[in-house]
Amino acid sequence: MQDFFNINPSLLCLDREARKLCKEPFEEIEKITMHNQHKVLSAFINNGVSEAHLGGSTGYGYDDRGRDTLEKVFAESVGAEDSLIRHNFVSGTHTLSVMLFGVLRPGDTVLCLTGRPYDTLIGVLGIDGHSDGSLKDFGIHYEQVELDKNGEPDQQEIRKRLSEKSYKVAYIQRSRGYSLRPSLTVQKIKELCDIVKSVSPNTLILVDNCYGEFVDKIEPTSVGADLVAGSLIKNPGGGIARTGGYIAGKHDLIESCGYRLTCAGVGREVGASLGVNRELYMGLFAAPHTVGEALKTATYAGALFGLLGFESTPAYNAKRADIIESVLLGTEEALIAFCQGMQKGAPVDSFVTPEPWDMPGYDDKVIMAAGAFTLGASIELSADAPLREPYAAWLQGGLNFHSGQAGVLLAAQSMLEKGIIKL
Ligand SMILES: *Cc1c(COP(=O)(O)O)cnc(C)c1O
Repeated sequence: MQDFFNINPSLLCLDREARKLCKEPFEEIEKITMHNQHKVLSAFINNGVSEAHLGGSTGYGYDDRGRDTLEKVFAESVGAEDSLIRHNFVSGTHTLSVMLFGVLRPGDTVLCLTGRPYDTLIGVLGIDGHSDGSLKDFGIHYEQVELDKNGEPDQQEIRKRLSEKSYKVAYIQRSRGYSLRPSLTVQKIKELCDIVKSVSPNTLILVDNCYGEFVDKIEPTSVGADLVAGSLIKNPGGGIARTGGYIAGKHDLIESCGYRLTCAGVGREVGASLGVNRELYMGLFAAPHTVGEALKTATYAGALFGLLGFESTPAYNAKRADIIESVLLGTEEALIAFCQGMQKGAPVDSFVTPEPWDMPGYDDKVIMAAGAFTLGASIELSADAPLREPYAAWLQGGLNFHSGQAGVLLAAQSMLEKGIIKL
């Protein structure tokens, strides 16, 4: 480390201590990585992936065997009947939007079981008066069950609401987003699925699976979710996919989503893959390992900042439900120093100094540290934070642990240089 980076010797002692604390959590992560890597490898083998699948189609993309086989490989990798995995999904939000529009019809109601959804879904659902082109605009109603005082889904209230009225969709967001509530483990999602299926068997269960893929040995599709969706510039793209998204789950629902992605009557049969099949296959193949590395980086950040006297959630030794680590830094100066230090450890744009700015759609100024090969890819080491109490940084990603470790250490070094921490 000291050969390449100027890190305070006392901080390097804490680095060693933090890595010692991480020994057992890392062993747990390795077990999950091993399981998921073997699962994904066997899906490649079972579906006979060949050199011919790695090429691409043009024009309409009819009979693109590479694209169609990838959808089978992906489905098997997440324990689903079927999947749509396409570079044509422009973001996670677009993918979730296609999933919702794919299955909902005018007059239907969505019940969100996990409180207020992720910021960008507000516009899709048409909450808060944003309605142009939203589900609300098309006559689809939205309701939510607030989280309980511990930030957990309120199972009693969910039961009550489901028994009072008929809902077409129960919506679950696995990851915490920019809140401090605990992310949902697959076990917790199973409890919710069991409730929905027992109280209201016809209600479809749709899961925003962003940041959760390959963090556990199974996905929500194995415990009752009808559809899950996520972004390929997060976990399942393995840091290799440059754009795209996926929806996985029940075959007939996947077909419906295909009609929304392209158009009715045509659906998923079209869509030129151009030259991206190769990187989507490689990304999926790399994903279990890359997610493991991101989990190690998150764990290490929790341990190191714990030693420095800062609270992080989840705790470094807690069971993880996604790749996010929130570090509670307490002050605006600390938050800015943290993000600026982390940027210094990025492989791309390390010389840039991030500053807080008024980002459209946010009430507070936001600061972001990101120096990624793919713009906005948060499977690569990144941190972002709104400048408001409790001045927490949401940290995620890291293509490999050792570069992630350097980024986290440089964040601490930057705080040290600003006199925010003393050793
Ligand atoms: C990232 C994310 C999204 C949206 O993905 P974008 O690619 O940013 O549009 C939705 N939900 C959650 C929980 C996310 O983390």
